[in-house]
Amino acid sequence: MKVFIQEFHKEQIISAIQRLVAFPSVCHEGENGTPFGQAISDVLTDTLTLCSELGFKTYRDPDGYYGYAEIGEGSDLLAILCHLDVVPEGDLSKWDSNPFEAVIRDGNLYGRGVQDDKGPSMAALFAVKALMDSGEKLTKRIRFIFGTDEETLWRCLRSFTEKEEQATMGFAPDATFPVIYAEKGLLQARLLGSGSKNLSLEAGEAYNVVPAKATYQGHLTSDLVPILTSLGFAFEEKADAVTVFGLAKHTKDAPLGINAIVRLAKGLTELVKHPALDFIVKGVEEDATGAQLLGKIWDEESGHLSFNIAALTINNEFSEIRLDLRIPVLADVEQLVAELKEVASDYGLTYVEHDYLDPLYVPQDNELVSTLMSVYQDKTGDMTPAKASGGATFARTMPNCVAFGACFPDSDKTEHQENEHIALSDIYKAMDIYAEAVYRLACE
Ligand SMILES: [Zn+2]
Repeated sequence: MKVFIQEFHKEQIISAIQRLVAFPSVCHEGENGTPFGQAISDVLTDTLTLCSELGFKTYRDPDGYYGYAEIGEGSDLLAILCHLDVVPEGDLSKWDSNPFEAVIRDGNLYGRGVQDDKGPSMAALFAVKALMDSGEKLTKRIRFIFGTDEETLWRCLRSFTEKEEQATMGFAPDATFPVIYAEKGLLQARLLGSGSKNLSLEAGEAYNVVPAKATYQGHLTSDLVPILTSLGFAFEEKADAVTVFGLAKHTKDAPLGINAIVRLAKGLTELVKHPALDFIVKGVEEDATGAQLLGKIWDEESGHLSFNIAALTINNEFSEIRLDLRIPVLADVEQLVAELKEVASDYGLTYVEHDYLDPLYVPQDNELVSTLMSVYQDKTGDMTPAKASGGATFARTMPNCVAFGACFPDSDKTEHQENEHIALSDIYKAMDIYAEAVYRLACE
């Protein structure tokens, strides 16, 4: 195998990631007349500037939903599907450094987005740059597509697929190695109910994160404290507020997290009755596979259902539970939704769909999958088979696309968490794999 990556590419990629992390590109819909906020608009512009500095032709959607950078020749188009938005920083006190200033400590790069997805996007970009610097000739066009609301509703890529050329094949560097050939269906929904005169709270952030804390502030605090103590839950009391702690995880790994909202609800329900608390405490329990509520939902291709209570609002006027479900590829989604609606209505709650994404499934004998798998195996010696995931990547927005890297099976998975980080050695290894992959897929 040829060597494409030079030492200076390693320096360039780190400063490129640092440059992009400096934009706090969390979705703020409609801010300053942009679709998803000023920082997202700015990071899109700056990423395209960076790409054109590297010799790519760039295009920015006039509405600001997406942009792309293209290089190479030929009728075939290899898409590399990236995103530039990030989830909120979470609990700032748990960060050892500013989330929006990427810094190197102990061989890792820390910052929001270094793993999801600014770091992997740059690894793929600089891999192609390294191929160019080596004088390789592309027989396909390589197009980096930069989405801007991946962490929320994917309106960017919906707009892209409506308006732009369809790729011949592609991959999303937004998951783990080796190849992910199946992604669970994604369903986000809200359960609406009545308000409460005695209870007001607002907990949770993004749909796709298991909430790591949930705060109650009000007259029940002093009664709540001994209950939480007897339940053995971690919490902190401050003035007339109490914050219950959990463990943040991406929704796809919800069963590995600890849901702070569920724990707060378990405490509160001893003191005040409310349908939303009942649904959480009696219906779901601390079972993030949803089995308590819906029975066991599982298939061999993609594993368990993941059922995350992402957020809870209760106020005078209404209550709202926000749910994020990752559904096994072979599950009957219509039946699942019907059951969820029914059980919600048993608790007096009304089901409203927020977002739904079909699952992804590309057969393992597909040429793209086999090429990417052999690149990964040749480069690492790791024979881990291609796999299924509960994550949702842009790969499912186009036919013949899969997710590929940039985390390794043994890397710390810190996406969406405080102190998000990526090992420098992983960045370089990923860059090397992407260079070889693009070489085999799109060079002479
Ligand atoms: Zn991502």
